[in-house]
Amino acid sequence: MASICVVGAGRMGSALARAFLRAGYVTHVWNRTPAKGEALAALGARFVPSLHQAIAASDIVVVNVIDYAAADAHLRSASVTRALGRKLLVQLTSGSPSQARQTGEWAKGHGVGYLDGAIMATPNFIGEPSATILYSGSQHAFDENRDVFLALGGNAVHVGDDFGHASALDIALLSQLWGTLFGTLQAIAVSQAEGIELDAYARYLQPFKPTIDGAVADLVTRARDGRYRGDDQTLAAIAAHYSAFQPLLEVSRERGLNRAVPDAFDSIFKAAIAAGHLQDDFAALTRFMR
Ligand code: NAD
Repeated sequence: MASICVVGAGRMGSALARAFLRAGYVTHVWNRTPAKGEALAALGARFVPSLHQAIAASDIVVVNVIDYAAADAHLRSASVTRALGRKLLVQLTSGSPSQARQTGEWAKGHGVGYLDGAIMATPNFIGEPSATILYSGSQHAFDENRDVFLALGGNAVHVGDDFGHASALDIALLSQLWGTLFGTLQAIAVSQAEGIELDAYARYLQPFKPTIDGAVADLVTRARDGRYRGDDQTLAAIAAHYSAFQPLLEVSRERGLNRAVPDAFDSIFKAAIAAGHLQDDFAALTRFMR
């Protein structure tokens, strides 16, 4: 069984270390401030105050600190790079696709194996069968260490050789989350301003969800196929959406609600309409997001 070094013992790093311990891996932990490692040491982790020693004692190094700058500051010191040798480095810190590619190239240049991952879960889900973590980089490195990744989450998925793809998917999926959360903020503001109980709002949302999911699936399929024109299968053309959207602008004005979100939607609608897409499918808006 491989031994693991977890670099970073914040909320997520601690959850990763606990999952490795539960799965029976010898787990070394390093954190910039030692206090955070103490709780993990009580669970059986080996807290090592020197990062290069923690790495030297392990086969696989899993990094989860606040950002890539923090990770780079430690990984790229001469003693740490030397300790990494030809081990596998798994970067689970959130970053951009280009940061992932740069780190992947740096690792390659030093003979270090590298996978870049995106954790699509909060710490309480780590180690659970449902937890999804996306990995990009060498398929071989992923396959060889699949059990290690399964210890962190039952849905460990290799998404491609391009080091940046896990991060790109992370950004895309989080965009989906934030779109929904900001939409919910808007819905709460309108409901409260108009005297609708939030429990009632939540109740009416349920039966509307299949319509939302259907519209999302239709949009993704049309964008994939480049079917932007309004046709027989169009669910609602931009004209119908824009007409239904006007009351949101109106109620926001009347009730003095924050208009940042509706104004952003409005600017995208307006750009597409000005370019002659009024009768096109909603999917025609994809062109105005680039
Ligand atoms: P956290 O604030 O709890 O922990 C941050 C960690 O980074 C700590 O261990 C801290 O010591 C370390 N750190 C900060 N600056 C450092 C520096 N200059 N040098 C060395 N170490 C430094 O944050 P978290 O929630 O554990 O998040 C860690 C990473 O995991 C982030 O990239 C975050 O985006 C990602 N992530 C978190 C979640 C979540 O739900 N918490 C979900 C997915 C991804």
